[in-house]
Amino acid sequence: MIRMSKRTDHLYLHVPFCKTICSYCDFPHQSYQPSAADQWLAALKSELSAKKINPECSTIYIGGGTPTALEPEQLDQLLTLLDPYTGCVQEYTIEINPETLDEEKAELLYRHGINRASIGFQSGDPVLLKLMNRHHTKEDTDQAVRLLRAHGIDNISLDILYSLPGETLEQVKETVREAIAMNPDHLSLYSLTIEPHTVFAAKHLSPCDADLEADMYEWICQTLPASGYQQYEISNFAKDGKQSMHNCAYWNYEDFYGISLGASGKDGTHRYDNTRSMKEYLSDPCAHTDIELSKEDLMFEMLMMGMRLKQGMDQQRFKDMFHVSVDEAYPKAVAKLKQENLIQEDEHYLWACGHGYEILNDVLEEFLPD
Ligand code: SF4
Repeated sequence: MIRMSKRTDHLYLHVPFCKTICSYCDFPHQSYQPSAADQWLAALKSELSAKKINPECSTIYIGGGTPTALEPEQLDQLLTLLDPYTGCVQEYTIEINPETLDEEKAELLYRHGINRASIGFQSGDPVLLKLMNRHHTKEDTDQAVRLLRAHGIDNISLDILYSLPGETLEQVKETVREAIAMNPDHLSLYSLTIEPHTVFAAKHLSPCDADLEADMYEWICQTLPASGYQQYEISNFAKDGKQSMHNCAYWNYEDFYGISLGASGKDGTHRYDNTRSMKEYLSDPCAHTDIELSKEDLMFEMLMMGMRLKQGMDQQRFKDMFHVSVDEAYPKAVAKLKQENLIQEDEHYLWACGHGYEILNDVLEEFLPD
């Protein structure tokens, strides 16, 4: 029998609206329309009351889309719907696009207990921002950070996207320096992948050359720790104690609720994907597809997520869940990877070390069945 964790206490809610659509984006979203957002809020209310959600959530993450694309009254309605689950919340995050935040919204967020903001900075370069169809400047990001801090929300994360078409190492350095100058608590840096059905794909654009991208990542990994941001995950860096609790729940393979269209969740041995269709969501707010995961799938997913963390995967949790240690479940892979100095373990964790962390996908492949 597979023993899963405690009662779910992490909640992700997806807001499917954006003011404008970024050229690289394939997240579920649609252009913001006030009446569509009203209908969505009504369906969300039904979904939340139909689901037996733990009122004692420890983390809540409102992502998107662009949650702050909602008008203040709608944002207030959304946060009011979530109020019943915030009594024990330790980390309550909302994603923000800089140009959609104003004084009234910042005040609302604080009033409802939001204590962390993840801001889409992406780049400080106006030409690259235009290429991405981002409608803000680096000054807008700076202003959003100030506004949030002035209203008591002082746990700030900035997102950066690099290896953009035509981007140079110098441009990445400048963007990272500008981000550091805003003194965020946390930084997420993602390299661009071009997904089908995006504007970048339609324009046949490519990320920058792979060697250059590797140089960018190397520079990022060397520079951020020297500025007080320790790497704790492949793409994430934080000041002491400011790691994202919510995202760590994903990487530690804990269960989480996925609320609203376009969200996914995990419930024991099941993963579910909510409908991505607004039409279907409005007629059935609980519409989803359910995937039952085998023990092999679960073990591999737990390894795959946990080894993204610099500290590695929690060996005891693995054993508690599957009644077998990683060494026992994957004797050949563990022996080979240890011999090649790509992984290491102690009684608590199993982690990819040195070059192994850089080639994590190759390391993980060793754990797949022949
Ligand atoms: S704001 Fe976010 S979700 Fe919306 S289009 Fe841009 S990247 Fe996608």
